[in-house]
Amino acid sequence: MELEEQVGRILAYGEICDHCLGRFFGKRSFGLTNAERGHGLRVAYVIRENIPFRPHEGTCWICHDLFIDVGVWAERVAKAVSGIEYATFLIGTRVPPLMAESEELVWSELDLPDPEPIKSEINREVGKAVASITRKAADLARPEVVAILVLGEGIVELEIAPLYFRGRYRKLERGIPQTRWPCRKCHGAGCERCSFTGKMYADSVEELIGRTTAVAFQAEDAVLHGAGREDIDALMLGTGRPFIMELVAPRRRTVDLTALEEAVNAVAAGRVEIAIEGWSTRKAVETLKSEKPHKKYRISVEIEGGIARKELEEALDRLRGAVISQQTPARVIHRRADRIRERRVIDARVAGQEDGMFFLDVVGEAGLYVKELVSGDSGRTRPSLTGLIGRSARVIRLDVLEVEGSGERE
Ligand SMILES: [Zn+2]
Ligand SMILES: [Zn+2]
Repeated sequence: MELEEQVGRILAYGEICDHCLGRFFGKRSFGLTNAERGHGLRVAYVIRENIPFRPHEGTCWICHDLFIDVGVWAERVAKAVSGIEYATFLIGTRVPPLMAESEELVWSELDLPDPEPIKSEINREVGKAVASITRKAADLARPEVVAILVLGEGIVELEIAPLYFRGRYRKLERGIPQTRWPCRKCHGAGCERCSFTGKMYADSVEELIGRTTAVAFQAEDAVLHGAGREDIDALMLGTGRPFIMELVAPRRRTVDLTALEEAVNAVAAGRVEIAIEGWSTRKAVETLKSEKPHKKYRISVEIEGGIARKELEEALDRLRGAVISQQTPARVIHRRADRIRERRVIDARVAGQEDGMFFLDVVGEAGLYVKELVSGDSGRTRPSLTGLIGRSARVIRLDVLEVEGSGERE
């Protein structure tokens, strides 16, 4: 079908604006707007047919004259993003299904090879108008704000890109979970058991860092991603545990991280302490989650009937470098599959003793159950300290001294 014939067929569908007419040939030629294309095709058609020229009037059957409102939509976007700190943006559009179907019907009936979808044109035209109002740049790949035009409702929805920073935390008080722990009874709704907080514990490491952080970034939420987690009753000491904080929908992006670190440490004093190392990315969160860092524990061990230090040291010599076979511990069997796993003890030595109690420093591969390494878990863990010395040994207290960070191990 010739171009003129296609134009004639399109005009016969009903009243159509220059944008929509031009867009049916939107990928032909360069340096033209679709409105210019549409106008040109309309002119060429009436000259060829030798009929009077009549510009578009009435309502376009495809877009309902949406393009008259490009400026209105741009103003709506500018208003929606005011008060938000961002450098780059992108426009997206939710096109009503009927509108998309109308133009797709013509594409297929006339077998058009080069049409452009209405979504692309509206995104581009509103994008240009927004750029000139806000003096900000559009960025297709990694925009800091995406403004979505909901055509059917006349509103703009915003998606603000998250921000990430990384650091290490030390947990100085027992009984604080790493992340928010919803109440088991009400699952967060609030009930008598949780004093209507919806939580099992009033505070978590996540909140002790996150509350101050969310305020600084004017973020909707602050989510902690840790490199593993310590038990709720264990301290996290030494150089601390690597973490990445994710700020959800931050309205501020240029926060002074040094000042933030001081503010968090002041608010959480004596409970949690952080050292911020710099900005981070979504990708780094995935890496952090997939890494299996070695961990160093300081444990206090009680041995039934006591033991000479030398004998204990000999047992630890045999554990050092040993591969431990661990059947899922009895204490977690109710929530984990029952299977045998093998983990290596990297190091194990006596760090001190006091009142018949020994302090041991143990470095293990990720996933090593340290309490069971000591107790033997009724034979489920082998070898174990209990098994080697022939007396019942038990962990009284367990703290994490060190978690390897990214790239610290070959
Ligand atoms: Zn139209
Ligand atoms: Zn509750």
